[in-house]
Amino acid sequence: MKHRFLSKRYWSSITTPMAEVVDLASKYKDIINLSLGDHDWITDKNVIDAAFKDTHQGHTKYTDSLGDPELREEIIKYYSEEYGYGLEMTEVMAVVGGCHGMHLVLEGILDDGDEVIVPEPFFTPYKHQIQLARGKMVALKTCEEDSFQIDSQELRNLITNRTKALILNTPNNPTGACYSKETLKNIAEIAVENDLIIISDDIYGAFSYGEAFQPITTLEGMKERTITIGSFSKDYAMTGWRIGYVLAPDYIIQCIRDINEGICFSAPSISQRAALHALSRRREIQSPMVDEYKKRVFYGYERICKIPKMSVLPPKGSFYLFVNIKETGLTSVEISKKILEEAHVLVIPGNAFGKCGEGYIRLACTVDIRALKEAFDRIEVICNNI
Ligand code: PMP
Repeated sequence: MKHRFLSKRYWSSITTPMAEVVDLASKYKDIINLSLGDHDWITDKNVIDAAFKDTHQGHTKYTDSLGDPELREEIIKYYSEEYGYGLEMTEVMAVVGGCHGMHLVLEGILDDGDEVIVPEPFFTPYKHQIQLARGKMVALKTCEEDSFQIDSQELRNLITNRTKALILNTPNNPTGACYSKETLKNIAEIAVENDLIIISDDIYGAFSYGEAFQPITTLEGMKERTITIGSFSKDYAMTGWRIGYVLAPDYIIQCIRDINEGICFSAPSISQRAALHALSRRREIQSPMVDEYKKRVFYGYERICKIPKMSVLPPKGSFYLFVNIKETGLTSVEISKKILEEAHVLVIPGNAFGKCGEGYIRLACTVDIRALKEAFDRIEVICNNI
């Protein structure tokens, strides 16, 4: 809104299509909401109980600005056990979720006008986050024909003398793509050749249904140029706790810690305790949850394959289905509107994730199979009549 009391930077709206969708969720009583990436799964009870016990025992204060040392030790143990990857305490910082981590990192590394390459379709907030840090987002188009993988040559073509970093997000929101080890190795090679930083948004790591997830930072030679954004939101069903972490070389961690001193100083102590307990119980927590999401996305995949004028790639990761709707002859926004108004199912138009998301809609499988069945039954009726 244009108002003299507002900064001119914010006179034109920055509300993302994702944020707009939230208001629509209450439009119909029988709505099935497949729009937002939030769990219908509640944080594990043992984690909640242990976190509250710790709170009663005094974890109610600011923590070290890098985070609770016990949590950082547990994160180090996790990377060592799962990936044989070594970290120092000075290379780990607890943050208030992945978005906060990304903001601090971009603020810490970008000079005015620096370019950040982002594979498109992309998690909607990246673009604005880069702009807030006075950088410029450069979109690297990925397409369904290549299973939304990154084409090394196209990546090379976008690199200029202003390119500072590349944001990677695998398993990917919104496409569900998982970059193969081969792709990651090629990207690592390009990063080294061109002295680029990789910002790896690893927040859906647990939701890898094929090849096991491998953080790019663990590839040889990548530690010194990779900043990993981790989060407990998705992998542990802890979105509301607002807790995540950043792994990076110590001078970067020192810099973002200084930036954060005037923002929120430290992540909430209770959430850090919850994260610590979640990490130490990760196997028992994640395996039933990931199994359930896997069932849902494969159920969704099978249903979409039978719906006329819709198609989707076999699921690889995350809990999203990025559905091709081009054959309907409608735009992403038109079909989303039709599905909302006629089927009372809320989805996100693909162009919310960048221009090349046009022709797609994103479905989040964050409701149970019974609700998914009802949603697909209703969508099928619409598509039968287009
Ligand atoms: N990155 C991606 C790709 C996401 O999908 C999300 C949340 N939907 C985030 C980061 C932010 O997650 P959080 O701040 O809850 O950790």
